[in-house]
Amino acid sequence: MIDVHCHLNFHRFKDDTPAVVERAKMAGVTRIINAGTQVTSSREAVILSEQYQDLYAIVGVHPHHADKVAPGWDKEILELAKHPKVLGIGEIGLDYYNYQSNGIVDPKLQRQIFERQIEIAHESHLPLQIHNRQAGEDVIGILKAHKDLLQDVPGMFHCFAGDMKILKSALQMGFYIGFDGNITYPGLAVGETVELRELARLVPLDRLIVETDAPYLTPLPHRGKRNEPSYAIITAKFIADLKGIPFETLVEQTDQNVYTVFDKLR
Ligand SMILES: [Zn+2]
Ligand SMILES: [Zn+2]
Repeated sequence: MIDVHCHLNFHRFKDDTPAVVERAKMAGVTRIINAGTQVTSSREAVILSEQYQDLYAIVGVHPHHADKVAPGWDKEILELAKHPKVLGIGEIGLDYYNYQSNGIVDPKLQRQIFERQIEIAHESHLPLQIHNRQAGEDVIGILKAHKDLLQDVPGMFHCFAGDMKILKSALQMGFYIGFDGNITYPGLAVGETVELRELARLVPLDRLIVETDAPYLTPLPHRGKRNEPSYAIITAKFIADLKGIPFETLVEQTDQNVYTVFDKLR
């Protein structure tokens, strides 16, 4: 299986990246896609993809960092996007959750950075990897307004959360839907109205993707520890049970979905 969204490019992995990659391989995670959250971490993701055969990169600026970009950031992302192992533009989108660390970044800025990166994806002929936290309506609105710039397979929502309406719109626009280890947590996350497992049940198998977002969102029973790509297997097993299908069937289909979204991976 493929971990389609994680961050081995973050410093929490700097001391043991080879061991983490090896553990993933042993567990059956054959390919790992690291996502950037700003220019520096995007560059790190590309460097890792050059060092390890089975690592790939997605480059972009996360809405958290929309207020910290330097002039010319967009040209740097555009340049990185030309790399043969860069599969998409992400993680990009909107985040209206009020974080203890940095609150909510000015939504107007977030939207500008998001829109510019939709243009970059268009210029680069790459799909989007969307980050949305409690901003579903605005994310869908912006994507609809830029419909002409999207690829035939427009991309995926990573770490999906939201309500049925957002899910329906995302599916209707052709997006694939990613779930992470937090789907194993019981109950509702702060500010959400529908449980993730409820949403995952509604996503057709041919549009579903599994990811880790490591080092975050560690699945049970490892919650509280650092997450890593090998744990994608735990989440995949959980979702297979949820759907009442064999684990192997889920892995086969979700891999196929990843190849459909990120066709440079083929
Ligand atoms: Zn994210
Ligand atoms: Zn992430």
